Amino acid sequence: MQTDVKYIAGVGEMRARLLDKELGITCVGQLLEHYPHRYIDRTKVYRIDEIHEDTATYVQFRARVTGINYAGAERNRRFHVYVQDPTGSAELVWFKGVKWIEKRVEVGREYLIFGRPSFYKNELQMVHPELETMEQALSKGVTCTMQGIYPSTEKITNSLGTKGMFRIMANAWEQARNHIAETLPEPLITRYGLLSRREALQNIHFPESQERLRQAQYRLKFEELLGVQLNVQTRRCGRLSKDNGFLFPKVGGVFTQFYNEKLPFPLTGAQKRVIKEIRKDTISGYQMNRLLQGDVGSGKTLVALISMLLAVDNGFQACMMAPTEILARQHFATISRMTEGLEVKVAILTGASKSRERREALEGIASGEVDILIGTHSLIEDRVQFLNLGFVVIDEQHRFGVEQRAKMWTKNHRPPHILVMTATPIPRTLAMTLYGDLDVSVIDELPPGRQPIKTFHYTDAARLRLFGFMRQEIKKGRQVYVVYPLIKESEAMDYKDLNDGYESISRDFPLPEYVTSICHGKMKPEDKEESMRQFKEHEADILVATSVIEVGVDVPNATVMVIESAERFGLSQLHQLRGRVGRGGEQSYCILMSGEKLSKEARARLNAMCETNDGFQLAELDLKLRGAGDVNGTQQSGMAFDLKIANPTADVQILTQAREAAEEILNGDPTLSLPSNLGLKALRERFSARDEIDFSRIS
Ligand code: ADP
Ligand code: MG
Repeated sequence: MQTDVKYIAGVGEMRARLLDKELGITCVGQLLEHYPHRYIDRTKVYRIDEIHEDTATYVQFRARVTGINYAGAERNRRFHVYVQDPTGSAELVWFKGVKWIEKRVEVGREYLIFGRPSFYKNELQMVHPELETMEQALSKGVTCTMQGIYPSTEKITNSLGTKGMFRIMANAWEQARNHIAETLPEPLITRYGLLSRREALQNIHFPESQERLRQAQYRLKFEELLGVQLNVQTRRCGRLSKDNGFLFPKVGGVFTQFYNEKLPFPLTGAQKRVIKEIRKDTISGYQMNRLLQGDVGSGKTLVALISMLLAVDNGFQACMMAPTEILARQHFATISRMTEGLEVKVAILTGASKSRERREALEGIASGEVDILIGTHSLIEDRVQFLNLGFVVIDEQHRFGVEQRAKMWTKNHRPPHILVMTATPIPRTLAMTLYGDLDVSVIDELPPGRQPIKTFHYTDAARLRLFGFMRQEIKKGRQVYVVYPLIKESEAMDYKDLNDGYESISRDFPLPEYVTSICHGKMKPEDKEESMRQFKEHEADILVATSVIEVGVDVPNATVMVIESAERFGLSQLHQLRGRVGRGGEQSYCILMSGEKLSKEARARLNAMCETNDGFQLAELDLKLRGAGDVNGTQQSGMAFDLKIANPTADVQILTQAREAAEEILNGDPTLSLPSNLGLKALRERFSARDEIDFSRIS
């Protein structure tokens, strides 16, 4: 299983490099865990007139070559092949590998043609199909009825094709089939009626029948989800048994004074409920580990502050960790303002803190003088030593890995209570898988007086209209965000887009009437902050920015959010960005700008944004759109666990079984040290959460 893939027949050095780079596959074991995401029926041979737009993603048909043709200039020469069967005709096209294919096509000969059908002027077309002569096809006979289609990338498809991938998989299987070790203990296999690992791998790649395929999928999904659940449950057991939670029995002076004198508005019912839940946790004797989900603008910050004041009243310190510098500064400003005149000392610590600020924070928390520390991921560093930390708030959890949270557990002799807040709602089933060790609270009610944001999708052609609309809103005294995507790989290009955009806006909205500021990650922290300040204090009307403002920024007077190249953002990001407006009483708007040409998924995302403001619905849809087969999608979706086949949303039933199984196993053997559980121990390790902060995406 450890053998380098380059030794597999059909792979070699070059393809091995490609497999590594594109799919992260380096050894046979990993290759065999690259599962098909679809299967096609290779026993079915279509007639040309049976093939329509919606017949199947891949089809094969049998036809005779009637002619060939070349088009285009020498360097990008295209090769056209015309074919016919008794029911109709079709055209096959090659843009690449022309030299190779032209030698293999003979006019007058009959071929079995396999590929993805498309239609041009009602005629069947196939780009880069696979062909073999009928003699070749017949001599091989049919070995399996269903052929797996593997998740792929453009480069892999160009180098291998669907069939090539299938072939190296078959070669790999030949080499590995006698070395497949079982990972699950026998009783578990019997109890849940699972295939052996070997049978499962064989049938996932080369199904003997539909039924065998289903069993193989079940076994492999079960195994993955069990791995995850073993992790999740282990953590939960640890928390519920040995760790005693700090007690906050007192509702004392600071809390009461804040509530009576400082609270700027009545709490919503949902805020009150969540505060009660937290109260209950903090007098239970158990350590709290709570996930607070609340849509953008639902008022999570206030809940966090009130909870932190409870900690302070009971002689503990509290801290709040935000994913960006800007957001940490904003929380610091808000919380300092709200606690003015109370017996509470608040400090801030970020990567950009100057020496004085840093010293004040570090000394203050070590001596106990500081009650509440606000900051970025700097708070996790070892030199940040609290005198008596009792309560930790982590804002926008999706930006932090599970490991960050675990690190905060070690900041006192017993783990402090932890409140994780997120506006990117995690579907319940997913929360159960990923955060099974967390209890969940939900703020499902926005503060009163908010109007739903109206969302529109414009293409670039409507830019003049957009500018007219922005002008109209600015005349009413409102402010506008214009956001550009920033994606790591093409940073240089993105900055160019951003700067061009800024210039064009400065031209169309000239001073002195309009003030436009700009804010992006390449700017110095103080310049960034100055831009944000300008916008916050309404010295600027328009803020042109990258997605630095994605999380948490609060400027209630801003009513228009323009998102450029909106097709490049994921759904949850779009929803987050939209949440920057609609925070005051005024009608707010979100304008999604994109080119004319959009992929199906991108269009579905933009449509969903126009149709609903409900973050929960969007999160469910996001998961669906990203489906398991989309390799890039799963990497970006920031899942804490590396699932290859299971989909926690679709496979709820298996998830529930895996959860039961994990509970039972751990009840009998909490440390998984019985010899019969060695495989499970390895499984638990394999699926331990990835440490996955991606700070490169932030600012
Ligand atoms: P988020 O949940 O996205 O972090 P915030 O905590 O930033 O939301 O709150 C969004 C806005 O709503 C802020 O301007 C805040 O002052 C305001 N707000 C919070 N709670 C209430 C409330 N109960 N009534 C009215 N406005 C509120
Ligand atoms: Mg927030």
